[in-house]
Amino acid sequence: MLVEIDRKSGFCFGVRNAVEIAEKALLEGEKVYSLGPIVHNDMEVKRLSGLGLTSINHDQFRNLRDCKVLIRAHGEPPETYITAQKNNITIIEATCPIVKTLQARIRKTFAGSKEGMAQVVIFGKPGHAEVIGLLGQIENKGILLKAPDDLSDIDFQKPVHLFSQTTMSVKDYNTLAENIREKYRQAGFQDPEEMLKVHRTICGQVSNREPHLKEFARNHDVVIFVSGNESSNGKMLYQVCKSVNPDTYFVASESELDLKWFTGKNTVGVCGATSTPKWLIENIRDIISNI
Ligand code: SF4
Repeated sequence: MLVEIDRKSGFCFGVRNAVEIAEKALLEGEKVYSLGPIVHNDMEVKRLSGLGLTSINHDQFRNLRDCKVLIRAHGEPPETYITAQKNNITIIEATCPIVKTLQARIRKTFAGSKEGMAQVVIFGKPGHAEVIGLLGQIENKGILLKAPDDLSDIDFQKPVHLFSQTTMSVKDYNTLAENIREKYRQAGFQDPEEMLKVHRTICGQVSNREPHLKEFARNHDVVIFVSGNESSNGKMLYQVCKSVNPDTYFVASESELDLKWFTGKNTVGVCGATSTPKWLIENIRDIISNI
């Protein structure tokens, strides 16, 4: 059986950057906390916890004083930085630069629109850390949409600035934008583009993987998609593989592999999310190779 790793799978630039910043801070020997798991992958969180990184939630964060706390790639709302200042907490900044730029664009758009006129709409997962950070930039006055047909909160007499969480599906985002245009047409606006400004904010590190993974999944009898259960882009990219190859299986670790998936198969592709460490993908490749 031929087992091949997808060469583009593994950490994206933002996650790699955050993990490297954490490792560097831990090497200095001081206690470091991570506000939320540094990456949506339990195996990698466990590895870093072995090096001394402790994940905390926001309640624990508010009770900390005089220590170092790492902000992960998803970013945080402004209140987090205010709390840190009040409690003499040193922030180790590992927000992905792409998320930082998106936060700034949303702030600028909101500040530039007349009060109550333009609506800042964010396509994203409710409760996701990045989304909380994005909404926090505009005092939680944005409209959050979780699906392409979830339009009930939009006022179609006012303009919309549409943004997306960085890890959403391009196809769904385009469908959402088209649904909004259609609603403007129904509301009597002949040129919806005058009312809708679509900001292309899905990260290329995710969107570029979609066509590539489709090709990869088509070229193998079985596909093993390795990702943490919490990973937003993991769920989305798994569906991309599954849509072209029904023999695609989602695993968080090697213990979830099932031998019967491989019976009578000649080629296996192993791939993963932007939060899946390469070492885990390689471990799984090695285990399957030995079957
Ligand atoms: S997916 Fe893109 S935006 Fe998100 S952390 Fe990775 S590089 Fe940054």
